Amino acid sequence: MLNNLTFQVFIAATLGIVLAFGYQLIEPNGIEMVDNSISLLKGAFLALLKMLIAPMIFFSLIGGIISIGNVVRLRQLGGITVSYYLLTTGLAITLALVAVVFVHPWTAYPPIMASMVDASSARLLNPGSDSILAVLETMASLAFTNPFSALVNLNILGIVTNALFMGVAMVLVLDENSPLFRLVVDANKIIIQVLRWVIRVLPIGIFAILFDFTVRLSGDDGLGGTFLTQLFQFGLLVVTMTLIHGLIVLPAIAWITTRMSPLELLQKIASPLLVAFSTSSSAATLPVSMRAAEDNLDVSPGVASFVLPLGATMNMDGTALFEAVAAIFLAYLYGIELSGVMVVTVFLMAMIASIGAPGMPSASMSGMQMVMLAIGIPLEAIAILLVIERPLDTIRTSVNVEGDLIGSLIVDRYLKR
Ligand code: ASP
Repeated sequence: MLNNLTFQVFIAATLGIVLAFGYQLIEPNGIEMVDNSISLLKGAFLALLKMLIAPMIFFSLIGGIISIGNVVRLRQLGGITVSYYLLTTGLAITLALVAVVFVHPWTAYPPIMASMVDASSARLLNPGSDSILAVLETMASLAFTNPFSALVNLNILGIVTNALFMGVAMVLVLDENSPLFRLVVDANKIIIQVLRWVIRVLPIGIFAILFDFTVRLSGDDGLGGTFLTQLFQFGLLVVTMTLIHGLIVLPAIAWITTRMSPLELLQKIASPLLVAFSTSSSAATLPVSMRAAEDNLDVSPGVASFVLPLGATMNMDGTALFEAVAAIFLAYLYGIELSGVMVVTVFLMAMIASIGAPGMPSASMSGMQMVMLAIGIPLEAIAILLVIERPLDTIRTSVNVEGDLIGSLIVDRYLKR
């Protein structure tokens, strides 16, 4: 249990809050040394997370696309597979956005971070401009940027677009033995190793972040407690909506298209779902998903080896749903009023961010920053999500993997028909 990351994060979070309260009681005015050390830890940890975003998204996405391996399959299966991915991810985000319109218990409390918004924080929309065309124009100019500038400036939309173009072009024009394929696979291995190291220190980061938030908020009439309640409510809504998508929406789509009953389906894919739940990684679950698809769902190996690896990086319904709810939740906490156009922006950004996120634990935190920037939420808000991120990742990864498996079933039956 002591080696379990989620458990460590839980302990670190509790320690951060309890020690911060104690610290406030003993030293209401704070001690400079302590404050500075906490701020150093927090800053270093957030910088560490940011360090990996650009290469991680870039290589993981190209890696996902080149796993398709050959042009013929890309032509045969590409269209239907990608349509399925986009449709189900869009459904998940719509579900999330409709749900938050009706259920947003955190608004019973004040937007406690409102004073922390930096008026100059970047956003896709100029305040006051309320036209979807303006958003699309900004998105287009960000998307079609040269790859080097996108990587250097952490322009995630640009990184995703370039990776998509390059990945597809690689499959179309390069020989299957080209060393470039090898290069991308190896680059991914290296990045994943570095990410593992970063994740090892997650508990330290969480400790510092929570200590800092509690000290900053507890000055204000017990706002620390309010914040935790709001966070809990947010987590509960995400879990509920993710379960609805995973237990009702996706099985219903499978039933409508293939007539496989939800119970039979869930039984047949239970083992990859459990592996996804316990590893929080779609990529790590891939071998088990392949076996379940071929042996239990009777999906042909050609389809499974196309749809599943691509889905493990591109198709993440749980992640998209989480990011959409998180954006709306954070916007409220920071007192940012959302117009209709901003909600549409959240939709589009959550979609792109979920496509860009690699199938690794907590990987969606990278794309989440793009969603936040788009509507003017300060980047430091990522710290709020990190606090509750670990337990939520288990369920959303299972739903991500479920989406891929159902995709392979549908594409397979469609082709057989
Ligand atoms: N852990 C997720 C996955 O591997 C990605 C994420 O949402 O962080 O599918």
